Amino acid sequence: MSLLENYTKQDLITKIGAQTIPTIIYGAGVSGQALLFACRESGIKVVGFCDNNIKKKGKSLLDIEIIHTDDIKSRFPNANWLIASADITDIRDHLIDYGYDETNLYPGATLLRDYNLENFSKHYESYNEEDNDKGFIEFAVASTIQCHDGYLDSSKVFMRSVDIVVTEKCTMKCVDCSNLMQYFEKPESYEIQEMNEAIEALCSVSDEIFEFRVIGGEPFVNKEVHLVVEKLIAEPKVKRIVIYTNGNVIPRDHQLECLKHKKVLFNITDYSRCGEEVEDAYTKKLSRFQRTTDKLEQICIDNQIDYRRHPPENWTDCGRIEKFNRTEEKNQEVFDACCCKNLTTLSKNELHRCPFSAQITRLDVCDEKVDYVDLTVASDISDKRNEIQSLLESKVALKACDYCPGRALHDPQITPAVQIKMPLPYEKKQKASA
Ligand code: SF4
Ligand code: SF4
Repeated sequence: MSLLENYTKQDLITKIGAQTIPTIIYGAGVSGQALLFACRESGIKVVGFCDNNIKKKGKSLLDIEIIHTDDIKSRFPNANWLIASADITDIRDHLIDYGYDETNLYPGATLLRDYNLENFSKHYESYNEEDNDKGFIEFAVASTIQCHDGYLDSSKVFMRSVDIVVTEKCTMKCVDCSNLMQYFEKPESYEIQEMNEAIEALCSVSDEIFEFRVIGGEPFVNKEVHLVVEKLIAEPKVKRIVIYTNGNVIPRDHQLECLKHKKVLFNITDYSRCGEEVEDAYTKKLSRFQRTTDKLEQICIDNQIDYRRHPPENWTDCGRIEKFNRTEEKNQEVFDACCCKNLTTLSKNELHRCPFSAQITRLDVCDEKVDYVDLTVASDISDKRNEIQSLLESKVALKACDYCPGRALHDPQITPAVQIKMPLPYEKKQKASA
C-alpha cells in the first residue's frame, strides 16, 4: 500500500518550515484542535482547518477559519496537510483525488504523540458542549494516534473499524435505514456461536482492530448481545467497542455490566429529537420515544456507562437497493466518492469491505465473492492475511456498488427515520437452474 511518509517530529517541523505553501489541518474536531495547539508550540503556522461538516463552514475556531472541503481547492491550490482525523486512509485518498501532492500530506499523530494535552485541555472549545470533558479529549486524541500508527505500519493487518450486525430486527422501521433493515421480510437475530466464531476467525488473522461497532437493527433486541460485547472485551486485539442503539430499548440488568467496561462506548441515537426544526405529525410521533431514551440516559449516568446521546445525523439517500447497470467508470466514481468504503463489516464468516455489500449478500440480492474474504475457507495464515490486506487496500469499485445509490460526503441530507409499516420489496438474485 502507498503509505504516507512516517517522519520524526523534528523532520516534519523542518520540512514544513522550509516550505512557503500554507499549512492546513484536516478535521476541526477535538484532535484537530489539539493538533493546532501542538503546531503552535512547535512553531508551525496553520492558516485554517478544513472540515466537511457544512454546519462549521465559514466559522472560525481558535482564531483560524474553517474551510469547507468543497472550497479548499479553489482557495488553496497548494498546501501542506496535517491530518487530524482517525479516518486517515479516507482523507489521504480525498486529498489526492483533489489533486494535492502526496508528499505534502502528513499524519497528525507525528505531532500529537508526545504532546502534553494539559496545555490544550484548558482552552478546549467544542461545538458540542456534551463532549467538553477531559476524558473525552484524551480518548479522541488517543484514538487518532492509534489509528495513524496502525496505518503507518504496513506489516500489520490493521482495521480501523469493523461492523458486526447482531440482529436484523428493530423496534423502528426506517424507510431509509442505511443498514437495509427495511428489506428483511423475516428478520432474525444472529446466534452467539456463529458471531463468536466469526470474531475469533477475524482476530486470528489480524493484528489490531481499533473499533468494533455492534449494530443492528436494534442490538438489544438480540437477548444475547451482551455475550458478543463480552467476547469483544476479552479480545486484546480489539481496542474499542461502540454499541449503536436507537434508544428505545432498555437493556436488562445483567446486560449492564459489560457496558461499564472502559473499552465500551454506548452510542444512543435520540429519535425523540428527530427533526426538531420540523414540527409536524411525523416528528410528534417519534417524540413518544423521549421517556424511554431519558430513562436509558439515566441508567447510563447511574451506572457510569460511557455514552453519547445525539439526534440522528447526516442521513442521505443511501439505504436503497437498485440495480443501476452503470458503466465500470461510473461505478468507480461512485466508489471513489463513497465515505463508507472503509467501513469493513463482518457478516457470518465473511469480511466485507462495506456494510452495503454485507447486507445485500445476506438479502440474497447477489453473492459477489470478489467483494469479500471468506474467513472459513482454509488457507495458509499468511495467504489469508494477504487476502484481507488486498480487500482493505483495493481501489477498485465493488460489484456491490452497482446496486447501491452511493454515499458521498456532500450528498443532500434527507429527513431521518421516516417510518414504514411493511418491508420494502426488492429483487433477489436468480437461482441457477438445475
Ligand atoms: S432505528 Fe432505523 S436506522 Fe436504526 S437500525 Fe432501526 S431501522 Fe435502521
Ligand atoms: S457498495 Fe460501494 S458505493 Fe455502496 S457503500 Fe459500499 S463501497 Fe460505497
